[in-house]
Amino acid sequence: MTSSHPSHAEAVAVLYDSFSAVHARVCDSNLHVGYWTEADDEATFEAATERLTALMVERLAPRTGQRVLDIGCGIGQPAFHLAHGHAVEVVGVSVSRCQIEHASIRARHARLADRVRFERADARQLPYPDASFDAGWFLESLIHMPDKPQALREAARVLRPGARLAVADMFHEPGRDWSASHPLVTAVPLAAYEPLLSAEGFDVLDLTDVTARVRVPEPVRRRLRAMVSEHRAEWTALAGDEVVRLLLDTVNDTFDTPGLGYVLITARRR
Ligand code: SAH
Repeated sequence: MTSSHPSHAEAVAVLYDSFSAVHARVCDSNLHVGYWTEADDEATFEAATERLTALMVERLAPRTGQRVLDIGCGIGQPAFHLAHGHAVEVVGVSVSRCQIEHASIRARHARLADRVRFERADARQLPYPDASFDAGWFLESLIHMPDKPQALREAARVLRPGARLAVADMFHEPGRDWSASHPLVTAVPLAAYEPLLSAEGFDVLDLTDVTARVRVPEPVRRRLRAMVSEHRAEWTALAGDEVVRLLLDTVNDTFDTPGLGYVLITARRR
């Protein structure tokens, strides 16, 4: 299977190496969708993405002293959110070296480096012992992993029995696989998650389709478009045409992609 070849993870790393810095300027430091409570909710991207993280933290239900693994950590914003609200230790992993450097600097600035650290690692082969974490999440990162069973199996290996796993991910409606035309993402239908998780040692406790809540409300889109056009030249100089085009697509198109859905899942390691 070419899709699980190491070069796929490398390609994702290259994308995120250049994407994260610009994305942080356009939206905020969260590299995931926002959560809006209704179609005319005017919450900024920043507030809405933090809301999604808050929902994931709730699903994780972390307890004092626990060790949490953030699989696909971006530039660390969700890990900081978690560590600000809970006395836990967080380890974040990403295939992007730039993200790890950026996230580590941010951890020092936030004075969280004693509890939150970031390491370059591939979800398919985590450099941690069995049962060494009390909880973990894939916050919009499983979508980049073509071999989902292997990524989930690795998560199950490093989580202790009884540990919580939270997943936030894009899915495709049956027969409408929008991800087929995107080289770096592989979506599955909503119905695939339960059997996938179950086969790799997780019991699903809750699975909620939140597609309607991640659609960017029109007033928020208008603000984003204006910002992108204003800064286009600056961002192109920083990250190149392709990345800026990708961002424009994100603002204008991604959330309208036919067949695209979004799910939040809580599971427990058996
Ligand atoms: N969870 C973060 C980032 C989401 S973007 C946030 O919400 O802000 C997807 C992340 O998954 C990126 O950090 C990307 O580098 C990471 N990723 C993709 N494939 C990976 C893999 N095979 N192993 C580890 N991280 C991976």
